[in-house]
Amino acid sequence: MSSALAPCPVFIDGEWRTLSGLPTTPVFNPSTGDVIAECPVGGAAEVEAAVQAAHAAFPAWSETPAVERARVFFRYRQLVEKNFDRICQTVSREHGKTLGEARGSVYRGLENIEYACGVPTLLFGDTLENLARGVDCETLLQPLGVCVGITPFNFPAMVPLWMYPLALACGNTFVLKPSEKVPLTALLLGELLVEAGIPKGVFNIVHGGRAAVDALLTHPKVRAVSFVGSSPIAKYIYETGTRHGKRVQANGGAKNYLVIMPDADIPKTVEALSTAAFGCAGERCMAGSTAITVGAAAERLLPSLVEAARAIKVGPTDRPAQPDMGPVITAQHRERVLGLVASGEKEGAKVIADGRGVKVPDAPRGFYLGATIVDGVERTMTLAREEVFGPVLNVMRQDDLDRAIEITNASAFGNGAAIFTNSGRAAREFKHRVKAGMVGINVGVPATMAMFPFTGWDDSFYGDLHIQGREAVQFYTQQKVITTRWFGEGVGDVWKK
Ligand code: NAD
Repeated sequence: MSSALAPCPVFIDGEWRTLSGLPTTPVFNPSTGDVIAECPVGGAAEVEAAVQAAHAAFPAWSETPAVERARVFFRYRQLVEKNFDRICQTVSREHGKTLGEARGSVYRGLENIEYACGVPTLLFGDTLENLARGVDCETLLQPLGVCVGITPFNFPAMVPLWMYPLALACGNTFVLKPSEKVPLTALLLGELLVEAGIPKGVFNIVHGGRAAVDALLTHPKVRAVSFVGSSPIAKYIYETGTRHGKRVQANGGAKNYLVIMPDADIPKTVEALSTAAFGCAGERCMAGSTAITVGAAAERLLPSLVEAARAIKVGPTDRPAQPDMGPVITAQHRERVLGLVASGEKEGAKVIADGRGVKVPDAPRGFYLGATIVDGVERTMTLAREEVFGPVLNVMRQDDLDRAIEITNASAFGNGAAIFTNSGRAAREFKHRVKAGMVGINVGVPATMAMFPFTGWDDSFYGDLHIQGREAVQFYTQQKVITTRWFGEGVGDVWKK
């Protein structure tokens, strides 16, 4: 489905350039199914130019005092806030999030800019006087050089903002390769960074798929790679990047379990589960995709949960009247989700809230799916093993907490997990034993904010140092330890003269 739209520009060495002659991929407004932009499929040539520009800009930027670098991000923060509505509308338009969801996600991004503003203190090292007699020791945190960010479609503003504000504030230069499905928000955020005063070459944007990514992963001048996306690609990025000597943090996909104990507060749990499973049309790495009900919890919970799912109004997000839930990203993704639900049914599960036939007369060509709940899911089913990334909640019924934890821990992923209970004992047992990096207690989406690391485990993360918080400062810097001794006797005598 090609169109007459000009391809999105790249931003290299302080210049916006529209590259002609490259193939493009369509960017959709998922609410209407219309093509709203074309994203060029760049490759090694653009990557080479961007990395060279970033490399050339590194000496001056890394020598710029941290307080001056921070000032760029204070201005950036102001500009993002001033343009907040425009950014949220762009997110909604190219991704399909409701405006409320877009606002929440842009706020999470803004908090990452605010965190980066604290860089002069974040870069403090340690000192120890008299490590030995007359010998002092100090650590310095120094930037790495050219860093790279490769981002997914599902958070067009937040995920890029997880990466480059802190990387740049730490004194690195950066090349961003946003998702080809949602390049417009990244470009808008780039324009604002230029307005905030980021010097030429310090920040660059390229587009493309595998060829561009491979060129970034193997470029000798790239020092570190931050990636967020699906697990198979995250694993590939980690393996290829580390093989080429890069520092890599690669966040992957997820399958997050929500355990509901019989003593849970049902109305509040229904609300939390409904948001966790159907918020952002389920296109979140922290989406609650499987509810494990323990004992009598199923009878207490499911009638109201089904009622809540059926009440979710689906519709276009690009107009003033906002729905409860928007579309999924593409027609192809919609088909994939439908296929997974059908596979569950075929393997014996039962659809108890069925959003598959949802009709949106205002926008008949949009990529819509209604909230869907599938009961009787068994862990061997494809639906239970694969990340669905759509508005589908699986239900598994179990007899006790031990079994619920065992099932949760058997997942290949380890991003998030949550328990709903009024029992401190059950909550403690769960938080201690569950194998997931982000745990919620009566919190359905325990996604961490800027000051805490985003701590996925297992197939949800490949690397050592996570995105966000102090770990991210460590990721974007290298430590130098200085041990000092000064020779000479009688300093006191010299000063007396
Ligand atoms: P994706 O893996 O398809 O794409 C992510 C990025 O990788 C994009 O920039 C894309 O252009 C690039 N890419 C795609 N195929 C590639 C290939 N073969 N070689 C090299 N690069 C390639 O992911 P997506 O569909 O855009 O995003 C959804 C996924 O991201 C979900 O699995 C979701 O769970 C995950 N996600 C994880 C987190 C987290 O923090 N763990 C956060 C958000 C999203």
